[in-house]
Amino acid sequence: MAKEKKLVEAITSMNDDFAQWYTDVVKKAELVEYSNVKGCMIIRPNGYAIWENIQKALDEKFKETGVENVYMPMFIPESLLQKEKDHVEGFAPEVAWVTQGGLEKLEERLCVRPTSETLFCDFYSKIIQSHRDLPKLYNQWCSVVRWEKTTRPFLRSAEFLWQEGHTAHATEEEAEARTIQMLNIYADFCEQYLAIPVIKGKKTDKEKFAGAMSTYTIEALMHDGKALQSGTSHNFGDGFAKAFGIQYSDRENQLQYVHQTSWGMSTRIIGAIIMVHGDDSGLVLPPRIAPVQVMIVPIAQHKEGVLDKTYELKAQLIEAGYKVKVDDSDKSPGWKFSEQEIRGIPLRVEVGPKDIEANQAVIVRRDTREKIVVSLDELSAKIGETLEQMQADMLERAKAHLAAHTTSASTYEEFKDAIANKPGFVKMMWCGDEACEMKIKEDTTATSRCMPFEQEQITDVCPVCGKPAKAMVYWGKAY
Ligand SMILES: [Zn+2]
Repeated sequence: MAKEKKLVEAITSMNDDFAQWYTDVVKKAELVEYSNVKGCMIIRPNGYAIWENIQKALDEKFKETGVENVYMPMFIPESLLQKEKDHVEGFAPEVAWVTQGGLEKLEERLCVRPTSETLFCDFYSKIIQSHRDLPKLYNQWCSVVRWEKTTRPFLRSAEFLWQEGHTAHATEEEAEARTIQMLNIYADFCEQYLAIPVIKGKKTDKEKFAGAMSTYTIEALMHDGKALQSGTSHNFGDGFAKAFGIQYSDRENQLQYVHQTSWGMSTRIIGAIIMVHGDDSGLVLPPRIAPVQVMIVPIAQHKEGVLDKTYELKAQLIEAGYKVKVDDSDKSPGWKFSEQEIRGIPLRVEVGPKDIEANQAVIVRRDTREKIVVSLDELSAKIGETLEQMQADMLERAKAHLAAHTTSASTYEEFKDAIANKPGFVKMMWCGDEACEMKIKEDTTATSRCMPFEQEQITDVCPVCGKPAKAMVYWGKAY
């Protein structure tokens, strides 16, 4: 009993210290382990399996729209990185360099990719000649390196996993349509698979990607009221094409520059899953993304027939298409319950000698802890129904949290008060001037998250400077 208590006590309450709660959860749920490489994390099987499920679902959605996967080198020659001025300026402070190969100093240093626009551009300049070569819809799953000073598991690390899509199109309209199409894929994925509602919108010029004409984003709200940028999609226009000479001959045999996009989602999104759904007992995984959906825990497993019954039920449920495990270790049931809770496994099925005698089992939901006694004949159907219900309820709860933590301000005083006292998004009109954005950041540490597609007219003027308002912006403190 003393040991069981220790397992639960190991997690700090989220209301006491949210940052410590997060660290405890990623560690106790065995998602990551710290490595000897500063700022880099080891993703353990429980964490990597979540990423694999994210990868599988997204990859399928990308391919449905004609995207193909490729793999590019992890090194970028300095001369290539230098070609697009804004891009190199944006990334220079966090780039890692390779200056030596084997025993020899390199003539030209190589950077470890922080992102691969320059490599794709170089590649596209070689393989695109005619309008018949377009569009090019490529994506790669890889890791990238950004030399971050402060790091946190999943949220910010020197090396992280992601996918980066890079497309080239004949026209501006086509590129813009692709940019929005991919943003919508990310948003739908977050809602349908991760049960995370997001705000879709455009970044201000200050917050857009280095070298992009426009950046679109999905912003999610964490349990503590901080925002997390959860996926971005960029329209590059023909800026990179001009810098890298990516031209094609059109139907009239005239040379034209291509229009490009890029879009990415990373292992950061696992941080969002943790911080949107987790509770004081640990992780709560949405059923559609959970590597294990059902953990069967035998009660009094030493008694005859108990383990056999759990294996039989496991086989039945796997046959029905669910991801199921039996915890037949020699730990006590209480300890097993705690572990299942910490790991966020959506459902637990308890089966003991008395249940077997009554031809029943007990299903326990991880999110609500509701206990459902079910006849073994109906177990499979009930599991399916409960998983679906839980997925839907989790989205509803997250939506309610988002709504309850979004306020709007019509004066700058109201705004400052909301940022200081009501953690969450604050909607306020903006004149479009970077000076006001800077002032808000200095005064409150909040940043512009996005100009949402769904606009409202709260006031006619920018409350900060009094000039006419150009757009409504979601502001907030962010990870
Ligand atoms: Zn202003």
